Amino acid sequence: MSERTLIVVKPDGVQRGLAGEIISRFERKGFKLAGSKFMRVSEELARKHYQVHEGKYFYDRLVRYICSGPVLAMVWEAEGIIAMSRKMMGATFGYDAEPGTIRGDYSCSKGNNLVHGSDSVESAEFEIGLWFDEGELVSWEPANEHWLRGEK
Ligand code: UDP
Repeated sequence: MSERTLIVVKPDGVQRGLAGEIISRFERKGFKLAGSKFMRVSEELARKHYQVHEGKYFYDRLVRYICSGPVLAMVWEAEGIIAMSRKMMGATFGYDAEPGTIRGDYSCSKGNNLVHGSDSVESAEFEIGLWFDEGELVSWEPANEHWLRGEK
């Protein structure tokens, strides 16, 4: 069963010109893009998106950070994408993340870690519903599907 996840290139990723690099990694992996928009995050959206962190010491700073500049929000699709994309992003703090991961290769910060990715099927469903209307998502069949997946 194909799975969807919300990936957001955060304000530091956009400002540092890393949006293309991040897209490229997911694209080359074989994930399918289902939606994208370049946007500013309202405080209301930020607070809802990070509601699980409400009350933690970094919550207000996190809300300020995600609202501090434009972001590139995307929905990507593939079987098992949530686990794979989390591996590709690397550990939460840039300085802990392994080389070869997005955060490990491009961030040495704690909070400014370039990219968000949903961490479970439930949070992906919640986050995609929060960031995208159904009509903004596209269903399509990539021409190279057979070569990417092999025989079922
Ligand atoms: N964060 C932070 N300080 C912390 C923990 C998290 O600034 O001590 C920020 C960081 O930007 C992280 C986001 O809060 O990406 C959400 O935290 P989470 O634990 O969900 O990490 P993620 O799923 O992004 O790896």
